[in-house]
Amino acid sequence: MGRYTDAVCRQCRREGEKLFLKGDRCYSEKCAVERKPYVPGMHAQGRRQKPTEYGIQLREKQKTRKIYGVLEKQFRNYFHKADRQQGITGENLLVMLERRLDNVVYRLGFATSRAEARQLVTHGHFTINGKKASIASMLVRVGDVIQVKEGSKQSPKFQEIKEQAAYKNPPEWLSVDAENLSGSVLAYPIREQIDTAVNEQLIVELYSR
Ligand code: SF4
Repeated sequence: MGRYTDAVCRQCRREGEKLFLKGDRCYSEKCAVERKPYVPGMHAQGRRQKPTEYGIQLREKQKTRKIYGVLEKQFRNYFHKADRQQGITGENLLVMLERRLDNVVYRLGFATSRAEARQLVTHGHFTINGKKASIASMLVRVGDVIQVKEGSKQSPKFQEIKEQAAYKNPPEWLSVDAENLSGSVLAYPIREQIDTAVNEQLIVELYSR
Protein backbone atom coordinates (compact mmCIF):
# COMPACT_ATOMS: atom_id res chain seq x y z
CA MET A 1 0.00 0.00 0.00
CA GLY A 2 2.81 2.39 0.90
CA ARG A 3 4.44 1.83 -2.45
CA TYR A 4 1.20 2.58 -4.29
CA THR A 5 0.68 5.85 -2.37
CA ASP A 6 4.16 6.95 -3.26
CA ALA A 7 3.69 6.20 -6.95
CA VAL A 8 0.48 8.21 -7.11
CA CYS A 9 2.06 11.27 -5.52
CA ARG A 10 5.07 10.97 -7.80
CA GLN A 11 2.73 11.63 -10.71
CA CYS A 12 1.92 15.05 -9.27
CA ARG A 13 5.56 15.76 -8.54
CA ARG A 14 6.44 14.80 -12.10
CA GLU A 15 3.93 17.37 -13.42
CA GLY A 16 5.05 19.94 -10.85
CA GLU A 17 1.56 20.57 -9.52
CA LYS A 18 -1.19 19.07 -7.45
CA LEU A 19 -3.42 16.77 -9.49
CA PHE A 20 -5.63 15.87 -6.49
CA LEU A 21 -5.37 12.11 -6.95
CA LYS A 22 -5.49 11.11 -3.29
CA GLY A 23 -8.63 12.65 -1.87
CA ASP A 24 -8.38 14.28 1.55
CA ARG A 25 -4.62 13.81 1.72
CA CYS A 26 -4.24 16.32 -1.14
CA TYR A 27 -5.64 19.07 1.10
CA SER A 28 -3.39 18.23 4.04
CA GLU A 29 0.19 19.08 4.86
CA LYS A 30 1.11 15.50 3.94
CA CYS A 31 0.79 16.37 0.24
CA ALA A 32 4.03 15.34 -1.46
CA VAL A 33 4.02 18.33 -3.84
CA GLU A 34 4.19 20.63 -0.84
CA ARG A 35 6.72 18.55 1.05
CA LYS A 36 8.96 17.86 -1.97
CA PRO A 37 8.29 20.50 -4.61
CA TYR A 38 10.69 19.17 -7.21
CA VAL A 39 10.67 16.50 -9.91
CA PRO A 40 11.26 13.00 -8.47
CA GLY A 41 14.48 11.17 -9.18
CA MET A 42 17.97 11.49 -7.75
CA HIS A 43 19.36 13.91 -10.31
CA ALA A 44 16.17 15.46 -11.56
CA GLN A 45 16.79 18.90 -10.13
CA GLY A 46 20.02 19.32 -12.06
CA ARG A 47 18.51 18.02 -15.29
CA ARG A 48 15.75 20.56 -15.84
CA GLN A 49 16.00 22.19 -19.23
CA LYS A 50 13.79 24.66 -21.00
CA PRO A 51 10.91 22.53 -22.32
CA THR A 52 10.25 22.35 -26.05
CA GLU A 53 6.85 23.10 -27.55
CA TYR A 54 6.35 19.37 -28.00
CA GLY A 55 7.39 18.77 -24.39
CA ILE A 56 4.82 21.27 -23.11
CA GLN A 57 2.05 19.69 -25.18
CA LEU A 58 3.07 16.21 -24.06
CA ARG A 59 3.08 17.16 -20.38
CA GLU A 60 -0.39 18.71 -20.68
CA LYS A 61 -1.72 15.51 -22.19
CA GLN A 62 -0.05 13.37 -19.52
CA LYS A 63 -1.37 15.61 -16.79
CA THR A 64 -4.93 15.36 -18.09
CA ARG A 65 -4.65 11.60 -18.46
CA LYS A 66 -3.45 11.24 -14.89
CA ILE A 67 -6.14 13.51 -13.46
CA TYR A 68 -8.88 11.37 -15.02
CA GLY A 69 -6.99 8.09 -14.55
CA VAL A 70 -7.18 7.09 -18.21
CA LEU A 71 -4.64 4.94 -20.05
CA GLU A 72 -2.94 6.22 -23.18
CA LYS A 73 -4.84 4.10 -25.69
CA GLN A 74 -8.23 4.96 -24.24
CA PHE A 75 -7.30 8.62 -24.02
CA ARG A 76 -6.35 8.66 -27.68
CA ASN A 77 -9.67 7.00 -28.53
CA TYR A 78 -11.49 9.75 -26.64
CA PHE A 79 -9.57 12.31 -28.64
CA HIS A 80 -10.50 10.73 -31.97
CA LYS A 81 -14.17 10.60 -30.97
CA ALA A 82 -14.01 14.22 -29.80
CA ASP A 83 -12.41 15.18 -33.10
CA ARG A 84 -15.28 13.64 -35.07
CA GLN A 85 -17.92 15.49 -33.05
CA GLN A 86 -19.21 18.94 -33.93
CA GLY A 87 -17.80 21.82 -31.93
CA ILE A 88 -14.40 22.46 -30.38
CA THR A 89 -12.34 19.27 -30.17
CA GLY A 90 -10.58 20.12 -26.90
CA GLU A 91 -13.84 20.92 -25.18
CA ASN A 92 -15.50 17.80 -26.58
CA LEU A 93 -12.63 15.79 -25.12
CA LEU A 94 -13.04 17.29 -21.66
CA VAL A 95 -16.81 16.81 -21.72
CA MET A 96 -16.33 13.15 -22.57
CA LEU A 97 -13.86 12.70 -19.71
CA GLU A 98 -16.30 14.41 -17.36
CA ARG A 99 -19.10 12.07 -18.45
CA ARG A 100 -17.20 8.98 -17.30
CA LEU A 101 -19.09 7.24 -14.52
CA ASP A 102 -16.12 7.28 -12.13
CA ASN A 103 -15.74 11.03 -12.61
CA VAL A 104 -19.48 11.61 -12.08
CA VAL A 105 -19.44 9.58 -8.84
CA TYR A 106 -16.51 11.72 -7.70
CA ARG A 107 -18.20 14.97 -8.77
CA LEU A 108 -21.38 13.97 -6.91
CA GLY A 109 -19.30 13.73 -3.74
CA PHE A 110 -19.72 9.95 -3.37
CA ALA A 111 -15.94 9.42 -3.36
CA THR A 112 -12.99 11.52 -2.24
CA SER A 113 -10.99 10.91 -5.42
CA ARG A 114 -11.56 9.53 -8.90
CA ALA A 115 -9.44 6.51 -7.96
CA GLU A 116 -11.74 5.74 -5.04
CA ALA A 117 -14.79 6.32 -7.26
CA ARG A 118 -13.37 3.88 -9.82
CA GLN A 119 -12.93 1.24 -7.15
CA LEU A 120 -16.43 1.71 -5.75
CA VAL A 121 -17.91 1.49 -9.25
CA THR A 122 -16.00 -1.63 -10.27
CA HIS A 123 -17.00 -3.28 -7.00
CA GLY A 124 -20.60 -2.94 -8.12
CA HIS A 125 -21.91 -0.39 -5.62
CA PHE A 126 -23.69 1.82 -8.18
CA THR A 127 -26.66 1.65 -10.50
CA ILE A 128 -27.66 3.84 -13.43
CA ASN A 129 -31.42 4.14 -13.91
CA GLY A 130 -31.85 1.15 -11.61
CA LYS A 131 -29.50 -1.12 -13.56
CA LYS A 132 -26.15 -2.31 -12.25
CA ALA A 133 -23.29 -0.14 -13.55
CA SER A 134 -19.85 -1.46 -12.76
CA ILE A 135 -17.82 -0.10 -15.68
CA ALA A 136 -15.96 3.03 -14.64
CA SER A 137 -15.53 4.26 -18.20
CA MET A 138 -19.28 4.21 -19.01
CA LEU A 139 -20.40 7.61 -20.26
CA VAL A 140 -23.47 9.00 -18.53
CA ARG A 141 -26.27 10.66 -20.52
CA VAL A 142 -28.56 13.55 -19.77
CA GLY A 143 -31.38 12.32 -17.53
CA ASP A 144 -29.42 9.39 -16.07
CA VAL A 145 -29.90 8.73 -12.36
CA ILE A 146 -26.81 7.41 -10.62
CA GLN A 147 -27.51 5.77 -7.30
CA VAL A 148 -25.75 3.72 -4.66
CA LYS A 149 -27.13 0.17 -4.78
CA GLU A 150 -29.76 -0.52 -2.10
CA GLY A 151 -27.67 -3.30 -0.59
CA SER A 152 -24.68 -0.98 -0.16
CA LYS A 153 -26.43 2.07 1.30
CA GLN A 154 -26.35 0.92 4.92
CA SER A 155 -22.65 0.03 4.92
CA PRO A 156 -20.48 2.18 7.22
CA LYS A 157 -18.56 3.39 4.17
CA PHE A 158 -21.63 4.81 2.46
CA GLN A 159 -23.07 6.17 5.67
CA GLU A 160 -19.87 8.16 6.03
CA ILE A 161 -20.01 9.21 2.38
CA LYS A 162 -23.62 10.33 2.87
CA GLU A 163 -22.62 12.71 5.64
CA GLN A 164 -19.74 14.12 3.62
CA ALA A 165 -21.75 14.42 0.40
CA ALA A 166 -24.32 16.59 2.16
CA TYR A 167 -21.66 19.30 2.53
CA LYS A 168 -20.31 19.19 -1.01
CA ASN A 169 -21.63 21.20 -3.91
CA PRO A 170 -21.76 19.31 -7.20
CA PRO A 171 -21.17 21.21 -10.45
CA GLU A 172 -24.23 22.85 -12.06
CA TRP A 173 -24.71 20.09 -14.60
CA LEU A 174 -25.38 17.52 -11.85
CA SER A 175 -27.86 17.42 -9.02
CA VAL A 176 -27.36 15.38 -5.87
CA ASP A 177 -29.71 13.90 -3.32
CA ALA A 178 -27.26 13.06 -0.55
CA GLU A 179 -29.93 11.60 1.73
CA ASN A 180 -30.78 8.96 -0.88
CA LEU A 181 -27.21 8.66 -2.13
CA SER A 182 -28.30 9.43 -5.65
CA GLY A 183 -27.63 12.05 -8.27
CA SER A 184 -28.76 12.93 -11.75
CA VAL A 185 -27.31 14.37 -14.91
CA LEU A 186 -29.10 17.61 -15.73
CA ALA A 187 -27.05 18.46 -18.82
CA TYR A 188 -23.65 17.90 -20.32
CA PRO A 189 -21.10 20.32 -18.88
CA ILE A 190 -19.89 23.36 -20.73
CA ARG A 191 -16.23 24.34 -20.49
CA GLU A 192 -16.84 26.99 -17.83
CA GLN A 193 -18.36 24.34 -15.56
CA ILE A 194 -15.29 22.10 -15.70
CA ASP A 195 -12.77 23.20 -13.10
CA THR A 196 -9.97 20.92 -14.28
CA ALA A 197 -6.92 23.13 -14.67
CA VAL A 198 -5.72 21.97 -18.08
CA ASN A 199 -5.16 23.65 -21.41
CA GLU A 200 -6.96 21.24 -23.72
CA GLN A 201 -5.84 23.13 -26.81
CA LEU A 202 -2.27 21.91 -26.19
CA ILE A 203 -3.55 18.31 -26.32
CA VAL A 204 -5.27 19.00 -29.64
CA GLU A 205 -2.03 20.45 -30.99
CA LEU A 206 -0.09 17.41 -29.79
CA TYR A 207 -2.38 14.91 -31.51
CA SER A 208 -2.56 17.05 -34.64
CA ARG A 209 1.19 16.89 -35.27
FE1 SF4 B 1 -0.30 13.23 -3.53
FE2 SF4 B 1 -2.66 14.52 -3.68
FE3 SF4 B 1 -0.48 15.89 -3.16
FE4 SF4 B 1 -0.89 14.83 -5.59
S1 SF4 B 1 -2.09 16.46 -4.66
S2 SF4 B 1 1.03 14.82 -4.40
S3 SF4 B 1 -1.92 12.94 -5.06
S4 SF4 B 1 -1.34 14.28 -1.87
